[in-house]
Amino acid sequence: MGLLIRFVNRTAYLRYGYLNRFKRTLGNFRSIGSTVKDDTVKESSPAPKPDLPDYNTPIDVDSHKLTRPKSRPRTVAPSVSGKWIGLDALAERTKGSLIPDTLKEMENDPDFKLTAEKLKKLGQKQMTKEERKKRQRALDDLGVPNFVQFWKQMAEKKTGVRPSTLTRKHCEQMQINIGLYCNQACNHCHVESSPKRKEMMDHKTAVKCMEILENSPSVTILDLTGGAPELNAEFRYLAARGKELGRDVIVRSNLTSLLEPGQEDTAQFFADNKLHVIASLPCYSAKNVNMQRGKGVFDKSIHALLVLNSMGYGREEELQLDLVYNPLGGFLPPPQVPLAEKYKEELLEHFGIEFNKLFTMTNMPIKRFVDFLYRRNELKDYMELLVRNYNLDTIDGLMCRNLMNINWNGQIYDCDFNQQLDLQCRGESQKSLTVWDISSLDEMADVKIRTDNHCFGCTAGMGSS
Ligand code: SF4
Ligand code: SF4
Repeated sequence: MGLLIRFVNRTAYLRYGYLNRFKRTLGNFRSIGSTVKDDTVKESSPAPKPDLPDYNTPIDVDSHKLTRPKSRPRTVAPSVSGKWIGLDALAERTKGSLIPDTLKEMENDPDFKLTAEKLKKLGQKQMTKEERKKRQRALDDLGVPNFVQFWKQMAEKKTGVRPSTLTRKHCEQMQINIGLYCNQACNHCHVESSPKRKEMMDHKTAVKCMEILENSPSVTILDLTGGAPELNAEFRYLAARGKELGRDVIVRSNLTSLLEPGQEDTAQFFADNKLHVIASLPCYSAKNVNMQRGKGVFDKSIHALLVLNSMGYGREEELQLDLVYNPLGGFLPPPQVPLAEKYKEELLEHFGIEFNKLFTMTNMPIKRFVDFLYRRNELKDYMELLVRNYNLDTIDGLMCRNLMNINWNGQIYDCDFNQQLDLQCRGESQKSLTVWDISSLDEMADVKIRTDNHCFGCTAGMGSS
């Protein structure tokens, strides 16, 4: 029976079978939306209420598969080799750079080719506008109001008090996307990184960022991300300076960058500086990792994790190694705690790998992931899923409330996602703010948070911040 239930669950999952449940609840959303026009919350006519959250994603993430799109993609995705052939000769298999393979995949991947053509034709700004319109159409069809209105309605409904604005708390984290260059080109990358992206922070901007950090006593965490931050010329300066200033320094590593030629001492640099490593590993199965992140990525990720473990990462208290799971397709992550247990079991048993925590992230409906969903005719379903699993409790922990994000050329944003959508923070007279306009992040306290229709990605299920 247990097996049967698991099979049924998996089958429901594999078909992304949220749809039937959603159809039952769609009436509820439409009625929520219909109350928005007068900006009040009214009870709709009785309709069967779903048990929420209703995503019920099983934790056997190795069994997750992508189904066929509802409408045929214009071209067939390239096949990826997913067969794990064990730890034997792993070092030999993972020799050399991943970049030639990544570039080859980009050349052959129909999605990358279509995006590149579109980018050439429309330019980045126009593409971002179009992407926004696509999300908006899906939400309009549902009768869902804008993100802030929706939050106010939900909060009022739950507590009887209507909140006024989404305010910032003390800024505790400075996050810097120091460049867009990456040795991978994952199909869900929300920053659209690849070996073809050459944008990188220069030294002058890096120094200015560190001056701001020094002048911002409430900021205890420096969070370095990219692209692949380790492959940026300013990475070591920023990480070492952050530590000198007494901050916890996080490096968001894709793991494979540690094995790139010329990066042989990077893992040692992490350990010497006691950097907190947060690494992406969207599954413990080779097939799923390679499908999402590119051929050969799984082998290299496992090798890099073994190297980090050998230095004490995931084993010694001051060498924290956390992993990040994000779903393969248009569904929400399974519950974090049991999934973490499953990851620990699988990685230890099969590879002898240890780590500290597992974070689950929702795929944000922006950039490459929006293209991915749109081409599979799944964008509307995904937006519906996010709204249907709206979780008021995530509001308190939204990253835009206690973090400031800076891009490679010093522009300031509420978060990494807003950066990709060109929603730069605006000061007085609507001036777009850069690091050259401020001396401390405390000055950002009264700057309004810029929300939009992508923000539903941060409030679904367990949240994504
Ligand atoms: S998701 Fe991370 S590893 Fe993948 S392309 Fe983007 S920045 Fe690189
Ligand atoms: S996308 Fe950014 S601005 Fe929107 S809710 Fe998430 S963290 Fe806040």
